[in-house]
Amino acid sequence: MQNIEAFREAISRPQQIVITTHIKPDADALGSSLALASYLIAKGHQVTVISPTNYPAFLNWMQGHEDVLIFNEGGEAESAELVANADMIFCLDFSSLNRIQDLGVLVQKATALKVLIDHHLDPEDFADFTLWDTKAAATAELVYELIRMLKDLDQITPDIAECLYAGIMTDTGSFKHSSTSSRVHRIVAGLIDRGANVSMVSKLIYDNNNLNRLKLTGFALAERLTVIKDVNVAFFTLSKEDLNKFNYQTGDTEGLVNYALSIKGIAMAAIIIEREDQVKLSFRSFGDVPVNDLAKEYFNGGGHKNAAGGASKESFEATVSKFKKMVLDHQDRFVDKINA
Ligand code: 5GP
Ligand code: MN
Repeated sequence: MQNIEAFREAISRPQQIVITTHIKPDADALGSSLALASYLIAKGHQVTVISPTNYPAFLNWMQGHEDVLIFNEGGEAESAELVANADMIFCLDFSSLNRIQDLGVLVQKATALKVLIDHHLDPEDFADFTLWDTKAAATAELVYELIRMLKDLDQITPDIAECLYAGIMTDTGSFKHSSTSSRVHRIVAGLIDRGANVSMVSKLIYDNNNLNRLKLTGFALAERLTVIKDVNVAFFTLSKEDLNKFNYQTGDTEGLVNYALSIKGIAMAAIIIEREDQVKLSFRSFGDVPVNDLAKEYFNGGGHKNAAGGASKESFEATVSKFKKMVLDHQDRFVDKINA
């Protein structure tokens, strides 16, 4: 953050604060928001975390999760009031206001000081203070850095440490992605020193399946995975009907796309899911295959070089066809990338 002194000054008195994050928050989005909230509450601020939508049940152990206001589940009026009256609004783990849908319109209009903390590409220019680093593996890493800049590392409680650890662990794919820097390991060492129980967090996030979710995974692997071998691409397609068959709950398909990327020789993987109001796409790649460019060009999306997403308002079938055409039109991007 460039103007840290001005930020320090702004936050030195008790403030009405709103923290918000992207739709369908993952462990980094929710973990960094709740960690920041706990830290700011302990400093004497009034803080509310507003999520545009609900989040996976495997995150409902994080300290403060029960106080999260869910915008699209009856939280519209209260959110509008909190956002309009806030002194400061923190936007975590997203870089453009359209990622928080209708809540973004309220944030845009608000008179509060806005603080963007994020690690995605191409941030929109709407914030008064920006802590933005695309090299950061997770927004949780940046929240840790913010607390360090404010010379408050000793204020990190075990609960805060576990929320931050969850964000870093999941956004690095359990310390496997190329974003896993030495700084990540140093920060995680700091979190463990502050009381994070890493085996418990891992168990809560990864070993918290219900049987339906496992069966949906099995079904998707057996029946809904297509490999386009010649171009090193593999992708899942899941229709609304498929999801209903397994009593789909938010988060049940999280991580599924990684199975497609784990196939030997695959350079790009995707999952195409028919949701209630749109078709959602997630992309993953290995090495020098920038899927954020494809997500942006074809599906109004974005993200990181190796992990991106987008959406389509066309039918499920039309979206799958568009995806296949995209793959064939860009096949030179995926071949010969594995051994590069
Ligand atoms: P996931 O596939 O896990 O939903 O998302 C992977 C990455 O792509 C995340 O960093 C996420 O922020 C980004 N992403 C996913 N969906 C969208 C989208 O619709 N628009 C944009 N701009 N980014 C997205
Ligand atoms: Mn993140």
